[in-house]
Amino acid sequence: MTRVRGLRCRECGRLYPAEALHVCDECFGPLEVDYDYDAVRAVVSREKIAAGPRSIWRYRDLLPLDDDRVVDLGTGFTPLVRADNLARVLGLRELYLKNDSVNPSYSFKDRPVAIASSKALQFGFDTLACASTGNLACSVAAHAARAGVRACVFIPADLEQGKILGAAIYEPTLIAVDGNYDDVNRLCSEIADQYGWAFVNINLRPYYSEGSKTLAFEVAEQLGWRAPDHVVAPIASGSLFTKLWKGFNELRLVGLIDSPAPRMSAAQPLGCAPVYTAYRDGARDVRPVRPNTIAKSLAIGNPADGYYCLRIIAESGGGCAAASDAEIIEGIKLLARTEGIFTETAGGVTIACLKKLVEAGTIHPDEVTVAYITGNGLKTQEAVAGHIVQPIRIAPTLDAFEAAFRERELALA
Ligand SMILES: *Cc1c(COP(=O)(O)O)cnc(C)c1O
Ligand SMILES: [Zn+2]
Repeated sequence: MTRVRGLRCRECGRLYPAEALHVCDECFGPLEVDYDYDAVRAVVSREKIAAGPRSIWRYRDLLPLDDDRVVDLGTGFTPLVRADNLARVLGLRELYLKNDSVNPSYSFKDRPVAIASSKALQFGFDTLACASTGNLACSVAAHAARAGVRACVFIPADLEQGKILGAAIYEPTLIAVDGNYDDVNRLCSEIADQYGWAFVNINLRPYYSEGSKTLAFEVAEQLGWRAPDHVVAPIASGSLFTKLWKGFNELRLVGLIDSPAPRMSAAQPLGCAPVYTAYRDGARDVRPVRPNTIAKSLAIGNPADGYYCLRIIAESGGGCAAASDAEIIEGIKLLARTEGIFTETAGGVTIACLKKLVEAGTIHPDEVTVAYITGNGLKTQEAVAGHIVQPIRIAPTLDAFEAAFRERELALA
């Protein structure tokens, strides 16, 4: 019995075999993994999942892997934290944060890369590659190291130090391209055509993107097998956002939850907000922009799945917001000070947009809401370095401490 029917074109519906393909020959539409949900329903259960590993691999029946050779860094099963302090500040009754900044390479990208790199090995590729906005580079390099295969990783040259180092430490071939992500992606599409490499987010994109569904599965399981009422997630290419939607809908299709899929709201940085702009203007299509934002992990001016994100926002009854650089920094600091979680700029975007969506009435105060925190603050330290309270420097004496402490208490009073 086979759960995966193949790859299906999202535009014309044509079915392809489950190979390393990503665009439709007929209409150039994107391909997506297509399941036989009756076959999935016959094998999954809450009990079977609960007995599985505490990682994304517990959802194996809902993922496109047909053999046991997986690249496993222990990704997933990250904390879902009830955030009462932040909820109080924002005026929400029940708010949760999915803290995906604590994955093995410190972002949610380990989820899609775990699936894509496993699939690459099963297909027999010997080189893992990617066009990255930063976190993907770290994750692909880490998975290649673990799998013992070559990695060739492409990044925009102006990336944050924490992401360059966070990829370089695994010793991939790291290529810094003079240009923005959209330039990197264009170059990589050419390279992917000429070299027989597994570009996780290009020729393996249908498998890659399936990994993000686990962010819907885990949240539903952690809430006691129900979907939240409303979720907020960031958009770069739109892969995560579209697969969250697919994930929640699949849970219902295979009988793991009864609740409808949540309302889906999207977060973008104002300096790279093609989906937000289309949403705001009521446009049907997403027009590419030139990114200029501190949220480099979200700086994709021409999002591959932007159009589908717009449709999901409309279909689910969600909304979309965008945050300026100053609001992103304030979002990072608000999350740190209220909940003790240090996120990167993308998380700052999510928190700032969550606040805007509540203020605009898009998120109702009594909706059970989940915000996705997708990356770790230690990787984007330069964004907040000029905005933190400096340590108080003293001589090593009790007097010096007491004087300094008194002064600090007075300043806070
Ligand atoms: C890549 C990334 C995203 C969004 O990715 P999509 O391309 O939209 O799937 C969100 N947050 C962080 C931290 C990322 O690195
Ligand atoms: Zn097609």
